[in-house]
Amino acid sequence: MMVPHCPHCLLPVAGATSLPFPPAAMRCSRCRLIIGAGRARAEASDDGDARARGSAAGVLANAARRAQSEPGGAEEIGAALRACAIELDCPVERLRMLDYQQRSVTDPAMPGLSAILATFTTWKSARTAAGDRTAATAAPATPHAVEGDDAARVA
Ligand SMILES: [Zn+2]
Repeated sequence: MMVPHCPHCLLPVAGATSLPFPPAAMRCSRCRLIIGAGRARAEASDDGDARARGSAAGVLANAARRAQSEPGGAEEIGAALRACAIELDCPVERLRMLDYQQRSVTDPAMPGLSAILATFTTWKSARTAAGDRTAATAAPATPHAVEGDDAARVA
């Protein structure tokens, strides 16, 4: 069966029965995103991961998996903190717990505050761990990239 599926939400496209589909760009009736001409994809039974990632149900499932595995995922938590800090345009060492919390409650992909505290005990140590990782992985290409308090002394 080659039933056309939306490339965005990965759900079957209503009324479509064969590929390639659609003949012209159309709006998906489920996720409301545009499916370009011929961009619908075939259902693949071994494509469960992609389907889970793409669908809203998959997002919830991922959140549930995270909840089950807490405490843990230190690396994931660090990445979430750094991403949030970048979004707020502030150094991760100064990222405020409340700012993170406000974002994490509306984004199921972000580890919850409870999981972070279960892993790191305190917000400060979570922040420090995320900051350490930044320093360890940052490429020293530009000397001005580091603007911490110690940067001047090192230079
Ligand atoms: Zn869709």
